[in-house]
Amino acid sequence: MALLSIVQAPDPRLKVKCEPVAQVDDAVRRFMDDMLETMYDAPGIGLSAPQVGDTRRIMVVDLARDPGKPAPLRMANPEIVEFSDEIRLGEEGCLSLPEHFAEVERPARIRVRYLDENNMSRELDADGLLSACIQHELDHLDGILFVDHLSSLRRNLILRKMKKAKRLVAAA
Ligand SMILES: [Zn+2]
Repeated sequence: MALLSIVQAPDPRLKVKCEPVAQVDDAVRRFMDDMLETMYDAPGIGLSAPQVGDTRRIMVVDLARDPGKPAPLRMANPEIVEFSDEIRLGEEGCLSLPEHFAEVERPARIRVRYLDENNMSRELDADGLLSACIQHELDHLDGILFVDHLSSLRRNLILRKMKKAKRLVAAA
């Protein structure tokens, strides 16, 4: 496995609409495992392909937060097939916007359909943090960041800070 480098916002690679994979083969499985290793190392609870500079509809999630007991979800071509009218407000962060957090409104419960690491079509009902995390990662596959759900004032404030931090890193 290999650690991948995580793209930091603002970056045009985070604005791309990703393409479905034809099937989950060995190469895709290897990529999913590299993404998981990168996510655990960061550490984070979700990671999507564009965050590591890839344009395929692939994402990984693990809410276990316990390195001894991993519970990874590997998803290709995820799509939300049902969502609740009930809305949940939850705090979100993002490995591409480190150190920035904000409350985001999303449907409280979803059903997501995806291809797993064995190329099997699966459906999963999710609520709470898992629901929010899956929606957050799926947004990435359509070039949407969590700050895009905020007011433009709030979004621009965060993106300006990110730009400034990037310039400081580049100058160092
Ligand atoms: Zn994110």
